[in-house]
Amino acid sequence: MRAFAYERPTDLGAAVALLAEHGGDACLLAGGTDLIIRLRDGSMQPRVVVDLKWIAELDGEIREVDEHLAIGARTVMTDIAANERIRREYQALAEAASVVGSVQIRNRATLAGNICNASPAADTAPALLAYGARVIAVGPAGKRAIPIDEFFVRSGLTTLDRGELVTAIELPRPAGRHGSVHVRRTRRRGHDLASVTLACAVGEDGMTRLAYGSLGPRPILVRDETGLLADPAAPDLAKMQRLEALFVGASPSPRSMRASPDYRLAMLHVLGLRAVGTAIERLASGIVRR
Ligand SMILES: Cc1cc2nc3c(=O)[nH]c(=O)nc-3n(C[C@H](O)[C@H](O)[C@H](O)COP(=O)(O)OP(=O)(O)OC[C@H]3O[C@@H](n4cnc5c(N)ncnc54)[C@H](O)[C@@H]3O)c2cc1C
Repeated sequence: MRAFAYERPTDLGAAVALLAEHGGDACLLAGGTDLIIRLRDGSMQPRVVVDLKWIAELDGEIREVDEHLAIGARTVMTDIAANERIRREYQALAEAASVVGSVQIRNRATLAGNICNASPAADTAPALLAYGARVIAVGPAGKRAIPIDEFFVRSGLTTLDRGELVTAIELPRPAGRHGSVHVRRTRRRGHDLASVTLACAVGEDGMTRLAYGSLGPRPILVRDETGLLADPAAPDLAKMQRLEALFVGASPSPRSMRASPDYRLAMLHVLGLRAVGTAIERLASGIVRR
């Protein structure tokens, strides 16, 4: 591991100034569950590591602000999975957070770190896409909100500008009742690497939002506005044909160690159909109510 300087700013301004000063030579440390591995294997060689844990304005709180739920940049997966409001209204996100790594990983891993690492297989990304989340970033030019669908570029790259860091992730209040679910298929060898991750939200207005990961350079959001997928009486064959059309952009890498492209594409469709069914059941059961 190459030696680096360790900085521990106590306010946001100082952190932004450090990022602006060191540019690509600096990187941020939240829980460290991705970063430490990359420092060890040499795939990241920063000159400066900026620890976010001492910044007073960044917290691990989950709070209701105006019309949305704000999840602070230091919020860890354990707290997201246990949060009563998230379990009730954003069930797919609670489920995604609850399967990340292991207990030890979930106690350290932040939601912000999960999306900033920008792995195409990040478990929480599909749920955030399905709920239309916003990423709140602060940088030299001030504060801005980035729609999550405009946040991911490719593995390891987001649309954060130089000097910007994420302070919170906001979930808009659902417009009406909905049912949602997170599902994934993992490799059964070594670490349980996800070969398909998927979240589905079916609204009472007939809109279905599906987001999937691990099948291309970034997680993808698709929508069914026809009402077909949300219709409990529509036949599975018709739904499968609709899913095939919606998933046409899936492009799993043939070089991935996660699974073969054919297997991942087949699983995407199987999991997609199952997820639609579960989301419809949850919507009908009335569990998700405001
Ligand atoms: C054994 C193991 C199992 C894992 N299993 C899973 C899994 O099942 N599913 C899954 O999705 N992930 C998994 N991961 C990956 C990892 O735990 C998650 O991606 C985690 O959420 C990263 O959060 P962190 O706080 O540890 O981020 P860090 O490692 O601290 O940071 C990750 C990246 O994000 C940047 N960053 C962090 N916070 C911010 C911020 N506020 N603003 C801007 N940039 C920031 C960092 O500079 C770094 O580049 C696993 C990791 C390990 C080691």
